[in-house]
Amino acid sequence: MPDDNLLRLRGITAGYSASHNVLHGVNLSVGSGEFAALVGPNGSGKSTLLAVAAGYLPAQVGEVTLCGRPLNSLSATERARTVAWLTQELPNAPGYTVRQVVVLGRYSYLKDFGTYTPVDESAAEDALRRCDIVRLADRPVSELSGGERQRVFLAQALAQGARLMLFDEPTNHLDPASLSYLLKLLKELTAEGRGVLMVTHDLNLAARHADRMAILSGGRIVACGGPEELVRPKLLREVYGAEINVVRHPVDGKPQILL
Ligand code: ADP
Repeated sequence: MPDDNLLRLRGITAGYSASHNVLHGVNLSVGSGEFAALVGPNGSGKSTLLAVAAGYLPAQVGEVTLCGRPLNSLSATERARTVAWLTQELPNAPGYTVRQVVVLGRYSYLKDFGTYTPVDESAAEDALRRCDIVRLADRPVSELSGGERQRVFLAQALAQGARLMLFDEPTNHLDPASLSYLLKLLKELTAEGRGVLMVTHDLNLAARHADRMAILSGGRIVACGGPEELVRPKLLREVYGAEINVVRHPVDGKPQILL
């Protein structure tokens, strides 16, 4: 039977040492064309979950599949062409220009002599355009603002051509215009059939824009579903231990939190 899930985590238990697991029996999937948001308190294991999904951190127990295939059966090249992972701490990339960093996203396509082909260069130019950073292409990455650097590494992920994109709090450094640009781009990516799993603390953004939300707490998925099921005062009180009011967005009626 074909597996429509780009990413599927089944019963994942994982951590940074054998004696201390961070994730406990996590099940989660992201489908083709889906924008899923992963929320939860600090330290609940969200970044760790992305590291497992990206194949960076092996699971102690359970299975990760990408496009229906076990992650550990994929070569490094296949993995790089399937999944892109934007971590929270973006590298400074000293000595590299924006264009050089973006074309690095094509490393898994490099031919025998390690040279980029016109196809690679055109994929990088396309990614620069889509992230609206052509004007920054020849600037050193180390001189850019946090928000600009965010776009550079997003462009690198696009150049990579991955079907699954894992984003760890990508909205942190963004002003409202950049945020709106990112949301528009995310919609385009999912419309192209890519899947997005985004870790975010912005419950309002998740409730308005994600197709599905999952809450991770203490290394366990405690709820998964649409915003109506998840953005509820009782559940949020249990998860975050704080009183959180829920109101309706005046434009689309989606649940929104008000502190
Ligand atoms: P979140 O993203 O939800 O804030 P993390 O996945 O970053 O949570 O962290 C979950 C737990 O794993 C925390 O207790 C954190 O201290 C621990 N942790 C995170 N990264 C490492 C690491 N590289 N080595 C050891 N422990 C880590």
